[in-house]
Amino acid sequence: MSGARVGRLDEVRGWIAGCERIVVITGAGISTESGIPDFRGPQGLWTRDPKAERLSDIRYYVAEPEVRRLAWQERLAHPAWTAEPNAAHRALVELERRGKLHALVTQNIDGLHQRAGHSPERVIEVHGTLHRVVCLSCGRRSPMQETLARVRAGESDPPCLACGGILKSDTISFGQALVPEVIARAQEAALEAELLLAVGTSLQVYPVAGLVPLARAAGARVVIVNGEATALDHLAHAVLRGRIGEVLPRLCAA
Ligand code: NAD
Repeated sequence: MSGARVGRLDEVRGWIAGCERIVVITGAGISTESGIPDFRGPQGLWTRDPKAERLSDIRYYVAEPEVRRLAWQERLAHPAWTAEPNAAHRALVELERRGKLHALVTQNIDGLHQRAGHSPERVIEVHGTLHRVVCLSCGRRSPMQETLARVRAGESDPPCLACGGILKSDTISFGQALVPEVIARAQEAALEAELLLAVGTSLQVYPVAGLVPLARAAGARVVIVNGEATALDHLAHAVLRGRIGEVLPRLCAA
C-alpha cells in the first residue's frame, strides 16, 4: 500500500487536536531514554547478543535450571527498579489529561506508563509485568520484590512457597500464549480508534503488530513514531522518524 509519509509533525498535531479516541501502542523504544535497553534496536540486547533470546523462551526456562539462575540474576539487576519515566511517557499522560486517550496498549513490562501517572484502567499490558511473579504450577501471583529478596539472600532459583513449583516473572515469554481477554481488550480498543499511534516498536511481534492493520481497516488514521523503519510503515498515514523523547512531547502538547 502506498501513502506512508515521512515527517509532517505539524499535520499530525492537527489530527490529534481534531480527534477524541486515540489508541497508543508502545514498545521497548519508549523506555530506552529511561535507561532500559530494547531488544531489536541498534543497541538492543538481542542485536548485541543473539543468545540472550534463550532467556526469554519458556521452553529453555522450564527445562534448564541454569537458564532460570541466569534469568533471576538478570531480574535482580534489571534497570526497571531504578528507572524513571521520561518525557515521552509524560507526553502520553498529557494526552490522557486532554481527554483524548482511549487506551494505551503496551508491550513493555517495566510499569513506567503507570508510574508516569496514567489511570490504571487505560493501560493494557499485553506482555504482562515485571513487577509480579507467577508460579508456573499453581498460578499463585506475588510481588516481584518479595522473590528478589530471596534471590539476594542466596536462593538461585527460588521455588513457589505454596507448592514448590517454578517461579517466573509474570510476563509473556516466547512459547507462551498471550492472555486471551487482554488481547481481546486491545483489539476492541483498536477497532474503536480514530487515530492509532505506534511508538517505539519494531512492529514485528504479533498479535500486537496486527492491531495496526486492524485499526486501519476499521477507518483509523495510523501514525508511527520510531527511530528506524518498522515492519508496518507502509500502512501508516504518517511516519515520524526521530528521538521519541523529543518527538512525543511536541506531538502531544496542547
Ligand atoms: P523492539 O526492541 O523490537 O523495537 C524497539 C524499537 O524502538 C526499535 O525499532 C528501535 O530502533 C526503536 N527505538 C529505541 N529507542 C528509541 C528512541 N529513543 N527513539 C526512537 N526510536 C527508538 O521492541 P518491541 O517492539 O517492544 O519488542 C520487544 C519485546 O520485548 C516486547 O514484546 C516487550 O515485551 C519486550 N521488552 C520490554 C522492555 C520494557 O519493558 N522496557 C524492554 C525490552 C524488551
